[in-house]
This record gives sequence, structure tokens and C-alpha cells, in this order.
Amino acid sequence: MSNNKYRILAVEDDRSVSSLLHAMLDAQHYETLMAETCAQGLMMLSSHVPDLVILDLGLPDRDGLEFIRAARQKNAVPILVLSARSTERDKVTALDLGANDYITKPFSTAELLARIRAALRYSRPGAEQSKLPESRFQLHDLAIEYESRTVTVASQPIHLTQTEFNILALLAQHAGKLLTYAAMNEAIWGAADPGGNKKLQVNMANLRRKLGIRPGDNRYIVNELGVGYRMQQGEDDKAE
Ligand code: CA
Repeated sequence: MSNNKYRILAVEDDRSVSSLLHAMLDAQHYETLMAETCAQGLMMLSSHVPDLVILDLGLPDRDGLEFIRAARQKNAVPILVLSARSTERDKVTALDLGANDYITKPFSTAELLARIRAALRYSRPGAEQSKLPESRFQLHDLAIEYESRTVTVASQPIHLTQTEFNILALLAQHAGKLLTYAAMNEAIWGAADPGGNKKLQVNMANLRRKLGIRPGDNRYIVNELGVGYRMQQGEDDKAE
């Protein structure tokens, strides 16, 4: 494709933030669309079919959470929440409604751009293709072969339990997306297990130790405390 520019819709009513976003996205050669209200954003989502949405939650007409709810009834466009609301509850609610990631204001430009790339990579290059599971995941020296269920770090085999492997594979298959504890529990153990969070924590601690990740280290996997886990983005296959 000669014109493979990603189209990004920013729904943001604060003019200073939206002009900053506009300048920042333009500089990265993204095609940028701006909306100031939830209603305008939803209209543009339908009419312009963006590849990604950056969403403020405090919007003048409706809460941004309503945008996520309405958008998810239509399609799976990655939604990156950019909000001043910073409680765990706000984050979990937005993510469980279907947001891909959550960044709190004030934000770092580099961090936001990295999360945008991760979210775009997660969804592309088109719905059909991303539905096909990849056979392999590579992130720095970590390699996962889904078929044979083997994991290596720096070519050394890592011996994981079934559950640990399932958790790692789940995160890898959603690399770039922040998965809430509840979403992970459901994927690994099925719906609403009251002891789920504890089991997840224990397995996660073992998994991180086996991968050689020290406490507090965000290599491979980021723990958004009180919210969930995000696998870092896999190897870049020449984006943009
Ligand atoms: Ca706002």
C-alpha cells in the first residue's frame, strides 16, 4: 500500500490537550481527526472509520464511558483512554467495557506514542488477519511457541505449569492491551471464581520468577497495580 497512514480519532474537549495531540500525531504522520463531544465522536467513528480512538472521559455531553459502550456495539476499533481520572475503579470500568488501554493525564508524549503503536499493532492489519492466531511470539529474548507450548528466554527452555503457560499465552496474544484481573481470571479459569485474583497473583509471581523478572521490573509484563497486566509490545515488524 502506498498510503498506509493510520487514521486516529481523538475525542477531547479540552482545546489545549487536543491541539497538543493534533501536533503530536501530525508529527508522526498519522491522519488525525478531532471530536469535542461524545456524540460527535460517535458520528465520526461511523463516518470516518478510524484505526484507533484516543478518548477523554470527561466530555461535555456524555461520559466517555458511554462512548466505549456504544462503540463496542459497532466494532472493535482500539480505544485508548486518556483521562485525568486515575482511580483503579475508573480504569477497570473503562477496560472491562472494552477499552484497550488507559493513560492518565498528565501524560508523557513518548509513552502515549508507544501505547498508540502497541494498540495499532494489536488490531492490524485488518480484522480477518488479526483473528488468525500467530504461531509464535517474540519479545526481546523471550520466545513463545504456541503449538508446542514451549517458552524460551535467551534460547534457554523455561518450564512452566499449564496454568502459567496459559497466562503467558493469553498476555502475549493480547500484547499491547491492558487486561484486567477479572478478564484474565475469566479467560483462564472460566467465569467468576471468587478465589481468582489470589490464584492469578500466585501464578503470576511464579511465572515472573521463572522468566527471571525481579519484583518491580517491568520487563515483558507490566503490572498496572490494582488494575491488570499488559504484555509489552512484541517485535516490531516495520510499522508505519
Ligand atoms: Ca475533558
